[in-house]
This record gives sequence, structure tokens and C-alpha cells, in this order.
Amino acid sequence: MDKVYGFYNSQASPQISPKDYFSNYSTLLKSSVCYEREQSTDEKMFQLMGVGLSKARLDLMSHYCSVNNLRTAESVNDEGSRDKAHDKCLENISDNTQLETLKALKKCNITLLQKYNTQSGIPIIYDKLESSIENVTPGLDFLVYVQVYKPFNSFTHRSKYYKPTIEMLRIKSVISILGCQYLTELRKKITCISDLSIMTNVSMNPDKQTRKLAKDVYKSGFFFIEDTFYNDMRDANNDDYSDVIIKWAAINNRLGPFKTARMEDTRVDSLCARFGYPWVYIHQGCCEHLIVLSDARLVTEDDDLLISTYPKIEKIKPTTGKNCSMCGILNVHWILTEHDRIPHDTSYFCENCFKSYNYIDGKKVGNFKAYRYPHLLELERRNIKNE
Ligand SMILES: [Zn+2]
Ligand SMILES: [Zn+2]
Repeated sequence: MDKVYGFYNSQASPQISPKDYFSNYSTLLKSSVCYEREQSTDEKMFQLMGVGLSKARLDLMSHYCSVNNLRTAESVNDEGSRDKAHDKCLENISDNTQLETLKALKKCNITLLQKYNTQSGIPIIYDKLESSIENVTPGLDFLVYVQVYKPFNSFTHRSKYYKPTIEMLRIKSVISILGCQYLTELRKKITCISDLSIMTNVSMNPDKQTRKLAKDVYKSGFFFIEDTFYNDMRDANNDDYSDVIIKWAAINNRLGPFKTARMEDTRVDSLCARFGYPWVYIHQGCCEHLIVLSDARLVTEDDDLLISTYPKIEKIKPTTGKNCSMCGILNVHWILTEHDRIPHDTSYFCENCFKSYNYIDGKKVGNFKAYRYPHLLELERRNIKNE
């Protein structure tokens, strides 16, 4: 690939294996003075504070200050009272509440209540938290930052009236992912409107609810990093997108050789790649995003240490909604193509204009194809309901 894209090497690092890099770095840290201080015993810490506590007194203090002692006399006598009070709070949240936080709290607690043992003497809130927390280790685990670009159309506009135009590359989001996580988890965090499109012509019955999204139907995709295609083969029906590319490259004899691997088996810390070099993520057949490994660093005490927090979207470019081609005011809800009464091949309609221009008493007027425009808020609400 360097024959074609070698230019980008001027901005890129040499090939780096973050796992080896940070392993060496941690070894260096261990031998440093700072590390030794962190490893000092409790007695040493008290000595530094000028307090001479023996091991026995320290143990006694730890016992008295344990969080397990944070109970009232009532809760000790009646182990179930706290659980009951907690459940009572949940019951007070109405099912029809409009507040998303309360909805999420109720749903989360119901799931946890079903999952964890409520009969133990430990207060339920601690029981839940301690059972569900999985932490990363500062100084050992590392984060890799991935810039994901907006998809671009690689076909340039060719006409004798217009100069060829090349689309500007724009970053859509920056995602941080732990070394111990898999590329499939990174894929889940990449949002793209083509995953939300619903490619079903519903012009004959526009009120019919189509629930399937493109990402639920067409699940194939790959990351291309260095010389390897990491194909998503979690679903048995997924296509190996890399196959046709590898064959094409072999016939042309200009590119390759390439390797293939499974996205779901590839941890981020197994990668050995150039940082700053453009790699590729492809999904939905031809939706192509450049991705760049932009940075990597060890996790520190100041980071969120819950593994479940990652991959995390660190930055995201807000999307601006399209307005209706007809009224120019309301948000687009419909995409129309091959319309015999509109001079454009593709046009965008809001709900009101779509119904009033194309239907009389519920009957379709003229010929056209109608597709629902992926309206993010609406889809999110629908997904929550379906869960
Ligand atoms: Zn895309
Ligand atoms: Zn309109």
C-alpha cells in the first residue's frame, strides 16, 4: 500500500506495538523513585506523617473505619429494611416519567435486582456495585485514541462544465479504547448514518413501521490496518468484504500481499501499526471511513477506571439536521427518489409536506419511491422501547 499512499508516511510514526512499548515503559517506572514511594508500606506512610502506629493499631483502625460499619442500628437489626426502602424509592418512579435518567435508573435497578442475591447481609447497594465493577489498573493498562473520519465518496465529479472536486476529510469522532478490548467493541462505538438507514420503499404504505435498521440486516464490515483485513465474521451470514479486494489486488499485481483476521478475535494490544497513518473502516458495502490511531497512553488515577466506560467517545462532531426541500423549515423525515413530479432524482421531505404533496385521502399520487430518513431521536426512543 505504501506504493500508493507512501506520502502519508511523512506524518506517521514507525510501526509501534503499544503492548511492548508500555510494557517496557512500566518496567522503567518500577525502577524509578516515584514507584518505590507508591509501593511503601502503611507503616512507612505513617512514619512519613510523623505518626508512629504499630501494625496491631493499624489493623484495629482499619476495622473501625471499614465501610461495612456504615449501618444504622436499625439496619443491623433489620437487614431487609434498607432493601425495602430502596425498592420503595424505585416504586415511586412512575412508568410514564418523561425523565430519561429516572427511566434508566429504574431499568438498571430492575435488571440488577434480578441478577444479584438480595439475601446477603451486605447492603444491597454495595452488593450490586462490588459485584459489577471491573477496573483497569493505572500504570499497567493503556488507552489508544482512534480518530474516525466522516465517510467520503471516492468518486470525483467529472464533467466538462465542472472542475473535479475532492471532498474535504473531516473527523467525525475520537474514540478511546483499552488495549485489552477487541476491534468489534471499537466498531460498535462508530456511529454512521448509513447504519441507521432503512432501505425499504414504503411509498404504498407510509404508516407501516419498519423496525429493522441497515446495521441489523447488513452486518459485514472490516478494518484494514497495516497489511491485514480484520473482517467482522460474528454472524455466519456475514460477507468477507476483503475477499474481492485481495483477488483484485492479486490480479493487478501492484498491491499486497494481504493477510486476513477476524475482528472479533483481535485485541487492540495485538496490533502493531503506524500511528498517524490513515487506515480504513468499511461497512454497509461501500461506506468508507478513514481511521487514524492518533495517540496512546497509560491509564492514570485521574481516568475513569471502570472497564465498562470504554471504548469512550472523547469527542464527536455534532450533526446538523437537513431541512425539508419543500417548506425549508421542518426536519427531514422522508427521502424520495424517481419522483415523476419533482425535477430532482432525490428530494427530502418533512412529514407534513410528504403527506400533503404525495397522498390524497391516504392514496398515493404519481410514481415515486419513499424511504424513511433516519431520524436519530426517534430511532433511539424506538430502540429503548424494543430492549
Ligand atoms: Zn459509514
Ligand atoms: Zn416541509
